[in-house]
Amino acid sequence: SGYGYASIEKQRQRLPVYKYRTSILYLVETHATTIIVGETGSGKTTQIPQYLKEAGWADGGRVIACTQPRRLAVQAVASRVAEEMGVKVGEEVGYTIRFEDLTNKGVTMIKFLTDGVLLREMMDDPLLTKYSVIMVDEAHERSISTDILLGLLKKIQRRRPELRLIISSATIEAKSMSAFFQARKSRHRMECEGLPKMEPAILSVEGRGFNVQIHYVEEPVSDYVQAVVSTVMLINDQEPPGDILVFLTGQDDIDAAVQLLTEEARTNRKNSSGLIILPLYSGLPRADQELVFSPTPRGKRKVVISTNIAETSLTLEGVVYVVDSGFSKQRFYNPISDIENLVVAPISKASARQRAGRAGRVRPGKCYRLYTEEYFVNEMPAEGIPEMQRSNLVSCVIQLKALGIDNILGFDWPAPPPPEAMIRAVEVLYSLGVIDDDAKLTSPTGFQVAEIPLDPMISKMILSSSELGCSEEIITIAAILSIQSIWVSSRGAQRELDEARLRFAAAEGDHVTFLNVYKGFLQSSKSSRWCHKNFINYQSMKKVVEIREQLRRIALRIGMVLKSCESDMQVLRKAVCAGFFANACRLEASSQSGLYKTIRGSQEIYIHPSSVLFRVNPKWIVYHSLVSTDRHYMRNVISIDPSWLLEAAPHFYQHQRLNPIVH
Ligand code: ADP
Ligand code: MG
Repeated sequence: SGYGYASIEKQRQRLPVYKYRTSILYLVETHATTIIVGETGSGKTTQIPQYLKEAGWADGGRVIACTQPRRLAVQAVASRVAEEMGVKVGEEVGYTIRFEDLTNKGVTMIKFLTDGVLLREMMDDPLLTKYSVIMVDEAHERSISTDILLGLLKKIQRRRPELRLIISSATIEAKSMSAFFQARKSRHRMECEGLPKMEPAILSVEGRGFNVQIHYVEEPVSDYVQAVVSTVMLINDQEPPGDILVFLTGQDDIDAAVQLLTEEARTNRKNSSGLIILPLYSGLPRADQELVFSPTPRGKRKVVISTNIAETSLTLEGVVYVVDSGFSKQRFYNPISDIENLVVAPISKASARQRAGRAGRVRPGKCYRLYTEEYFVNEMPAEGIPEMQRSNLVSCVIQLKALGIDNILGFDWPAPPPPEAMIRAVEVLYSLGVIDDDAKLTSPTGFQVAEIPLDPMISKMILSSSELGCSEEIITIAAILSIQSIWVSSRGAQRELDEARLRFAAAEGDHVTFLNVYKGFLQSSKSSRWCHKNFINYQSMKKVVEIREQLRRIALRIGMVLKSCESDMQVLRKAVCAGFFANACRLEASSQSGLYKTIRGSQEIYIHPSSVLFRVNPKWIVYHSLVSTDRHYMRNVISIDPSWLLEAAPHFYQHQRLNPIVH
């Protein structure tokens, strides 16, 4: 092109993976499974699917699939590959994430999708017959869906020996992956003419980044957001040009850091006028995503403040400095208390090395770790724990059941989940009426719940709303619960946000409050000005409208009756109970402090300040999710009558010997 950039073709040929093009194609041709290890940025995700296409793997209507654990990565990578191929996303290159399908049957040759979506596709097409090659990318992340997928793909290969798998990863977990694909329970298939070898091939893409100098803090930092801000300002004052990539944990602390840095840059105008400060997290509107990937103008310095999505899933060009907080948001599940939450937790050494590596893409770089060297060496865990081993497994179990895998404990897992978590999941599914005494999916309830691509508790709530005559409302609520937040971030305007929220507040709780917001949005003719005025995220509301439409379609397909309960909020609360009875909590009689206890595990728990029931403290509630800091906080709470719990799940509470009314 005429802009002084290398042509796309030149750029592609410069990537480390290009030298391995022939080897990769040869290995894929001759082996059922090829494991590819290569540094982030070496071109695995964007190039390998194109090589496969060029070699004819998408001929004859076949499709090349490439999975990612994260939705944002799916979208970003698909647009990059479409750009390289000179096509629009949704044509030869497409993507599918939950509630969003940008593919074109018969046209799309390369399809990016989340590992969760591929699992769902197996419900309709158990052998995934339309795919010639499936590349399971980011395997080192060990997300739950990736692990389930690997187990199932291994099974599929027995039935479809011509299917090729590529497992790609940024770290050397290749040995254990290879061992997993090597160990096959059934008799080894005879090696046949024309069929690939079952023995997995391993290929390592060389092409190390530049040296990265590591700096540690001398004393542990108490406020990592503040530490990020001062480190970025220091780099900007003292270091030569080059973009900065900051790793924080989630939208909250990222927005806080963006705000603080922006203020700081304004007051220090002399040196900081060249700073372009950008957030990066899932749920970011499309336009904001694009800013992150666009080249930094001359004389400017880009500061991207990201979750661990930029650790290996996405490559940002031009990064020379990395600031690593040492934390990420991680899911933890305790099967004894039955509490699952997202907590800010220390990352592993493996992650810390990945993060540092992001500074050495274009030239030697520097990484500023906001923890001490002593901590890194002696205390930071070497590896993370696979998500499978620290999650609630309700969704996982129902998916396997729906795919006809009955012996879940005997399933061929890359990393077996803890049996207690399995038992808990089976128990909840049984109480939801989704599986029967033989642990098989019930008909029709179990199959219907499995059809709805949401957490089984939400799916059951939707299903029950059909009988209770409040599906229109419940589907709205489900759509809102399935996105991150409908409110704009409150930084610097907490009071205004709280006031806005109060305008919609319903005495019953947050679910009904959501309905009020949705009604208001429709009455405003879906106006962005109305959203702005009310601290509501316009992009989120548009998404809600879309998801709601899709959920209605699914509901009709599985035979639900869609009715509105008008203003009868009692049936609506009953429907919520029918799905979320396991999350019931009771206010401690003696407590003025808002202390609740979970019925199930007697855990101490509080209503989150963002809830409209904060300080209202009704006696009985069910919650949707938890966040934990020093305490457990319930988000999205609704008041209930305890007798509904017994109605919803008599067995559950008998089994727990915790009759909530007597208790
Ligand atoms: P890997 O999967 O091995 O981590 P990728 O295939 O994602 O590597 O990226 C390879 C290269 O493609 C990157 O180093 C970068 O130069 C370029 N690239 C990837 N995504 C984008 C994008 N959205 N915008 C610009 N360049 C990109
Ligand atoms: Mg990649």
